[in-house]
Amino acid sequence: MKKILSLALCLILAFCACPALAETVSVTEEGFGGDVTLTLTAEDGVVTDVQIEGPGETAELGGMAMPALAQAILDAQSPYVDAYTGASVTSAAVLTAAEKAFAEAGIEVEAPEAVVGEDEEAACDVVVIGMGASGTFASVSAAENGAKVIGIEMTNGLGGMGNAAQGMFAIDSVLQKERYGDDLGSDQQYWFEHIFDRTQYLGNGKLIRTLVSESADTVQYVLDHDIEMYLSAQPQQIAHFGETIVYHRWNNTQPFVHMAEYIEKNDVDVRFGTHADKLEQAEDGSWNVICTKEDGGKLTVNAKAVIMSTGSFAGNEAMMREALGDDVYEAAFVIGGCDGTGLQMLYDNGAAKGELLTMNHGVGPRAASTPDGGGIKVATQLTMNTPILWVNRQGKRFMNEDLLKDTV
Ligand SMILES: Cc1cc2nc3c(=O)[nH]c(=O)nc-3n(C[C@H](O)[C@H](O)[C@H](O)COP(=O)(O)OP(=O)(O)OC[C@H]3O[C@@H](n4cnc5c(N)ncnc54)[C@H](O)[C@@H]3O)c2cc1C
Repeated sequence: MKKILSLALCLILAFCACPALAETVSVTEEGFGGDVTLTLTAEDGVVTDVQIEGPGETAELGGMAMPALAQAILDAQSPYVDAYTGASVTSAAVLTAAEKAFAEAGIEVEAPEAVVGEDEEAACDVVVIGMGASGTFASVSAAENGAKVIGIEMTNGLGGMGNAAQGMFAIDSVLQKERYGDDLGSDQQYWFEHIFDRTQYLGNGKLIRTLVSESADTVQYVLDHDIEMYLSAQPQQIAHFGETIVYHRWNNTQPFVHMAEYIEKNDVDVRFGTHADKLEQAEDGSWNVICTKEDGGKLTVNAKAVIMSTGSFAGNEAMMREALGDDVYEAAFVIGGCDGTGLQMLYDNGAAKGELLTMNHGVGPRAASTPDGGGIKVATQLTMNTPILWVNRQGKRFMNEDLLKDTV
């Protein structure tokens, strides 16, 4: 009996001492557009799989960050990997979830000590802050005109939100001349008035005039830089059927892939992963841009001229609440990204603070409204593709629904 008991005890002890078999742990954190869930599988203390799901995250930012972070965590066998630049909210959710999942799975990893990079200085004729849609073209144009150019970009790629765009507006372009000959149908003045009218006269007349009158040259400039374009077959909106087509689309290529070649050819020195924080004017009238590099070190760029092309402020909650009001902000789905530091740098240097305006596309409920996160797309498509009836709280129809995208 004693022998049987001790054998049973040995078996129990041997079983308890066995390393844990495959274990799966899921942790959910709040991301940018809803829940972000990280599922970690480990065998004998070794992570064998990391899956991250966040259906509400913005496709171009968080959507890119999640698989990249999952791979980085798996490769490093650690939750202490670098955040994905440009998707800071999604990254923070993923990295917090990863830290918790490692702890829950009983895998101990020591947090690395932060090493701060060295401070640097650089000088040039023109510094371009923000290498998005505008900054990329502006920097190449300045360099082609003989300037020594440095570009500051907080993410690791060119194009910013321009990567989401499929084409551009233009009137009087070479492509329209090819299609319509001398009979364009609508002219610059029509589009100037149309844009002004549909922005409720809140737009800046000078800028809208520039947009309209220089758009044909812009198309030519883009074509001259090997980016093929074609005129869209139909207008983007039902409201514009029968009018001159103004949407010039990229031809199965991404413009910023081509622009990267021109950046290199013209020696534009782009500092990726670098966030511009402050702009100060020196005594001699030149400008110092003080930036934080990815490694935490400082970069100070001295330049004769500054092009501020930091895009919008959609990633800055306070500014967005100011622009939209709390009610709309809380109901809206916002594609974030730029944090408004560019505007702040200009205000700090005496620029007049105008009204903060937002560019509104379709209207749809938040991702949370459907379990699979498909709510935004479906609702947005529905509102853009009429017929659908829009009524106010009194149940009265209040607008021509097919004008939604223009008049939203
Ligand atoms: C889903 C979607 C679809 C769109 N489709 C179209 C379309 O078809 N046609 C069209 O004409 N427009 C379209 N737009 C609008 C268009 O993308 C923007 O108007 C355009 O990208 C604005 O250009 P920008 O250079 O001002 O800003 P962005 O392209 O946003 O570039 C700003 C850059 O500055 C960087 N940055 C910001 N702050 C700092 C800082 N402090 N330090 C360093 N870098 C910084 C950002 O990382 C970014 O790269 C679309 C927009 C969206 C969201």
